[in-house]
Amino acid sequence: MTLKVGVIRDARYLEHKPGLVHPESPSRLRSVYRMLDKDFGDRLVQIEPRLATLEQIQMAHTPSYIDLIMSTAERDFTPLSSDTFVSAKSYLAAWLAAGAGIAAIDALMAEEVRACFALVRPPGHHALADRAGGFCIFNNLGIAAKYAMERYGLERILIIDWDIHHGNALQELFYKDRRALYFSSHYMGWYPNTGDWEETGEGEGAGYTVNVPVPKELKDEDIICVYQNALNPIVRKFKPQFIMVAAGFDAHERDPLGRTRLTEKAYSSLTQIVLQLSDAGNGAPLFFSLEGGYDSRALANSVKEVLGMLAFQGRRERISIPTTRRAEEILQRLRQTHRKHRIWV
Ligand SMILES: [Zn+2]
Repeated sequence: MTLKVGVIRDARYLEHKPGLVHPESPSRLRSVYRMLDKDFGDRLVQIEPRLATLEQIQMAHTPSYIDLIMSTAERDFTPLSSDTFVSAKSYLAAWLAAGAGIAAIDALMAEEVRACFALVRPPGHHALADRAGGFCIFNNLGIAAKYAMERYGLERILIIDWDIHHGNALQELFYKDRRALYFSSHYMGWYPNTGDWEETGEGEGAGYTVNVPVPKELKDEDIICVYQNALNPIVRKFKPQFIMVAAGFDAHERDPLGRTRLTEKAYSSLTQIVLQLSDAGNGAPLFFSLEGGYDSRALANSVKEVLGMLAFQGRRERISIPTTRRAEEILQRLRQTHRKHRIWV
């Protein structure tokens, strides 16, 4: 079975220029867009991004922070933090990256497509309410999830974050909110140094943040095994109405920042698992939003694996992979940590 899959792309995302030697460069998306033309042609549904409204951006950011971003418009170069810089048209790209999620949610809820991948920049999962960081300006996926809650009344959104960095802003936005279950696998020794096991949510949201720190030696079979075994029981109980993926590809072995050992094939299998989770959640729509991934070729190849799995393969049988020792250790720690909440284990 194949799915109707949408993609969001726009030349204006290339106009965000954080500097000649900055890893989050326009060449990342150029490479992805070239791959789309070459490998997918017109087989994907093109969904036009739109500008998010001020009210929508305010679902994740303070008015004074939004003013700050607007004040950078048409200025050649403005540093927002020690690693996040903007150029004259970055504000527009950021606004449009947040709006891509809004357009995707509407298309998915109207069943125009069953899955949608927003191929946007700047990325979003480190953009806090009042602070840019980690190359992120607005919390694109967080805004999309908030919009799905407000506009469509959704009460159970599963957010999976497989970027190698912890999505501190996604965690923070939903830390006390059980309508979004945030599941992140990441290496903890790097930016932003958050996402420890014991960060599991607070108040109403206690137990609804699931952090899975992974070692740098992580390989394809380890991550596949962890996702398969950790997410299946969670989804059986949580019953997500919608699944969103903060899709960063910097755990790829060729990534200059990530430096773990995954290949692009891992992303094909992770997508297959996400498809199975969607089936288990009665066909929950799937929204992917691009986060990191700083080797342009590895990024394009990885996105190709995700889209290929979504659009052509549709293989839903459970992946059978022997449990690796590394995965077993991770899963044991996860069970120990979450036992106290009595929700998932
Ligand atoms: Zn990252």
